[in-house]
Amino acid sequence: MSLNERLFAAGLLPAFDEALVARDRAALIEMLTAVDTQPALVNVLLGEGYECWFCGDCISPDHADALYVELSRLWSDTVEAPTQAIYAHFDCAHERMRGAKMEIERETFSLDDDVG
Ligand SMILES: [Zn+2]
Repeated sequence: MSLNERLFAAGLLPAFDEALVARDRAALIEMLTAVDTQPALVNVLLGEGYECWFCGDCISPDHADALYVELSRLWSDTVEAPTQAIYAHFDCAHERMRGAKMEIERETFSLDDDVG
C-alpha cells in the first residue's frame, strides 16, 4: 500500500497535504508514524538531505546513484505490511551489502545508462 493509500485509508490525506504545503515537520512526522511509515521519510518529502545508512554521512543530490532500499517481511500476507526505508551511497551499499553469490550492480542504477 502506497503512502497516499495509507493516508487516505486513515483519513489523513487532506491534513497531510496541508502540512506538506506548510512544511510542518512535526505534523508530517506524526502522520507518517500514524500510518506505520518511517518518520525519516519526512526528509524526502521536504526535499532535504538523506543520511547514508552505512556511513552516516549526508547523501547530496550529486550522488546520482544513491540508493533507496525498502525492507519488509518476505512472507507477510497483509497488504499494509510495515516497511522500513533506508538510504545509502551506492559505494557504501556495494561494500556492506555484498552477498554470498551476488552483488549490487552499479549499472542497474546508473542514471547515465538511461540517456539515449
Ligand atoms: Zn555512505
